[in-house]
Amino acid sequence: MYNRSLQDPDAFWSEIASEFYWETRWPEENGKVHFENFDVRKGPVKVEWFKGGKTNICYNALDRHVHAGKGDQIAFYWEGNSPGLDASLTYNQLLQQVCQLANFLKDKGVKKGDAVAIYLPMLMELPIAMLACARIGAVHSVIFAGFSAESLAQRVLDCKPKVIITCNAVCRGPKIINLKDIVDEALSISLAHGVSVDSCLTYANEVAMSREKTAWQDGRDIWYQDVISDYATTCDIEWVDAEDPLFLLYTSGSTGKPKGVLHTTGGYMVYTATTFKYAFDYREGDIYWCTADCGWITGHSYVTYGPLLNCAKVVLFEGVPNYPDAGRCWEIVDKYHVSIFYTAPTAIRSLMRAGLEPVKRHSRKSLRVLGSVGEPINPSAWKWYYEVVGDKRCPISDTWWQTETGGFMITPLPGAWPLKPGSATYPFFGVQPALVDENGKEIEGVCNGYLCIKGSWPSTFRTLYGDHARYETTYFAPFKGYYFSGDGCHRDADGYYWLTGRVDDVINVSGHRIGTAEVESALVSHPQCAEAAVVAVDHEVTGQAIYAFVTLKLGVQYSEELRTGLKNAVRHEIGAFAQPAKIHWAPALPKTRSGKIMRRILRKIASKELENLGDISTLADPHVVQELIDLTDV
Ligand code: ATP
Ligand code: MG
Repeated sequence: MYNRSLQDPDAFWSEIASEFYWETRWPEENGKVHFENFDVRKGPVKVEWFKGGKTNICYNALDRHVHAGKGDQIAFYWEGNSPGLDASLTYNQLLQQVCQLANFLKDKGVKKGDAVAIYLPMLMELPIAMLACARIGAVHSVIFAGFSAESLAQRVLDCKPKVIITCNAVCRGPKIINLKDIVDEALSISLAHGVSVDSCLTYANEVAMSREKTAWQDGRDIWYQDVISDYATTCDIEWVDAEDPLFLLYTSGSTGKPKGVLHTTGGYMVYTATTFKYAFDYREGDIYWCTADCGWITGHSYVTYGPLLNCAKVVLFEGVPNYPDAGRCWEIVDKYHVSIFYTAPTAIRSLMRAGLEPVKRHSRKSLRVLGSVGEPINPSAWKWYYEVVGDKRCPISDTWWQTETGGFMITPLPGAWPLKPGSATYPFFGVQPALVDENGKEIEGVCNGYLCIKGSWPSTFRTLYGDHARYETTYFAPFKGYYFSGDGCHRDADGYYWLTGRVDDVINVSGHRIGTAEVESALVSHPQCAEAAVVAVDHEVTGQAIYAFVTLKLGVQYSEELRTGLKNAVRHEIGAFAQPAKIHWAPALPKTRSGKIMRRILRKIASKELENLGDISTLADPHVVQELIDLTDV
């Protein structure tokens, strides 16, 4: 299938696309279903798939299954922050609720092409809101409900929505977060910049906060539960062009200011559904759980669209993996008989830190396939995931992809080929990775290089919202003719791909170029190390030196002996040249709100440039930074 997808991408994808419902089929000229220009020298970068075809992703994710007689099947199992609080929706019920909200939006004047901002935690109303927008051709912009008023305001100013959908408050772990106050502040900031939002539809999440305690602005604010039930449970579909925009979403902000990525409808639909099906070996009857929040691309493609397009049963989780304790994930796996479980290395490392007992306490026998996304997974975390969580029974799909790519790019197909811990293995159908050198020349065989992609895939992002010039300069200008991912990568003798980290983070010690992933994995292989992040600092002799931040397993004390042990682990795994010059103890690492290590902040701490830490709007917990500064000389 892979060979065919490259030899004749148009026929390959057109066959798969035909399994979906199209109100009007795309026109085919000489069998061509896509157009692309990836080469800035040949004019503006442009990508189109199935253009001229008319469809609707909400119809394909819901109505299509209902018409096929599957309306009584579960779509969502919702598990609340506290154990014991749960709910579920069948495909029929989900469709009805989506229609009601879609009718509300229409009533408020939202039309095809208009933007709607969604600032909701992981309640069922979040995917409902996304689908309601898609149904009427509105463009959703989901903003992770952990962002500050300032970040929310920035994103509201960017897309100028008529309506914002939110809720009053949410419980996250032991904390209660008052979202409505944040929204109020964000909307007044936007107003001060000339953007006024007409309606603020607010879900009353009374588990977290009563209506009486919620700040209110009459005329603008509307309680969700007060109005929604008055709307009809059916709503006509707005058929949209395959190339009409579906959503706008910001990257995680690990390397700088977040970028507003725009995805369109047809190619995104076909690609997310297909990648979901193959990379998780999805089969009818599977219960699927992805721990990502819908505020990130993973929650768009692999909580909402990909699984629902396959008529899967999806677990939606409001809480966090270690609340009330480190066994929560496995408790949920047993409760719903989850067969496919998809999470991030950061969660795996933090659960690993808590030891075996919380895992072993639960059976996990329903698990069949495991997945990982977000960062390179250290081989020792991979082994723990495989051996302890999956009882050596479940293949791990380590999926490499990005907000920009919309769907999986390099990923195992479970069972199809042998896995290597820490490698994302091979490209998905239609994806042509290229490793290039600093001159933009493609290198073959075993090598290290800048990871680029040749040619488009159906869910290629079409632009950065309102800034096509930045789209071209960031992704297509560095290496002419290619999409540049920003990541470094190694290809081994078997053709397996190994992500080595961001190229901006590469460390050059005496002429050796060292990826962050390799050194971090060597540190994490030390039995007392829970997590590590390395950055470069200037060095008189070697040019740069490696500076490592290390988080220890729970209960382990700092000591000089342990410092030496950690350095030796790197010396042993990689070589003396990669040995960190300094080990900086880290009770925790600065991470984005999606759980990725922010090395750019660590670089500033390591080189003691504390005045300007850069854009920290996506930093999850700012206290971590001060803690690290305080530990500089410990
Ligand atoms: P920003 O672009 O704003 O700096 P970000 O790159 O973290 O943020 P995302 O689109 O959420 O935003 O993340 C994509 C990046 O995550 C990839 O470029 C890669 O560095 C990393 N990544 C994701 N999955 C994997 C994986 N399986 N293995 C290695 N790295 C991964
Ligand atoms: Mg990125």
